[in-house]
Amino acid sequence: MDILWTPWRFAYVTTADGAPRPGIPERLAAWKGDTGCVFCNLIASVDHAIASGMPAEEAEVAAGLVVRGKHCYICLNAYPYTSGHVMVVPYAHLDRLAGMTIEAAHEMMDLARQTERVLEQLSRPHGLNFGMNLGKAAGAGVAGHLHLHALPRWAGDTNFMTTVAETRVLPEDLATTWKRMREAFAGLT
Ligand SMILES: [Zn+2]
Repeated sequence: MDILWTPWRFAYVTTADGAPRPGIPERLAAWKGDTGCVFCNLIASVDHAIASGMPAEEAEVAAGLVVRGKHCYICLNAYPYTSGHVMVVPYAHLDRLAGMTIEAAHEMMDLARQTERVLEQLSRPHGLNFGMNLGKAAGAGVAGHLHLHALPRWAGDTNFMTTVAETRVLPEDLATTWKRMREAFAGLT
């Protein structure tokens, strides 16, 4: 099994009219819109929740939104291969690196550099994967919206549960990961 390049599955909740609305955690489902894109939906649902009075931190942990930059954000993968699997995502709905502004591209790489330090600090991995899949043929689960995967790796960490049961054994839940990562990013100098 190819760990990094397998397309990702995303959480689905049902909208008022019964249509599936990808990428919205249940606690944020008050937002009834659908951009048709999980990464755009994530930000729109968080913004809607905050505008409706939900405390920002509560909305952000529900969405797994760890860092909000000026041009890009960092979120937890809802179906991670390992604890600490995050994605750096531009706010702009773009499918090509060449479509990004240079400022957004610069911030994406800067956030990747911060992620490297945070994952080293929190997970003490043997190595790290950083990668992007551009286009369905390249394995992109969400081909319409660029996203950079970052995840810690350990020698011999292939998780056999994934291949036999589509179940992953994770040592901590997403809310715990979110809190540890939020604090680690905030502590970077
Ligand atoms: Zn999008």
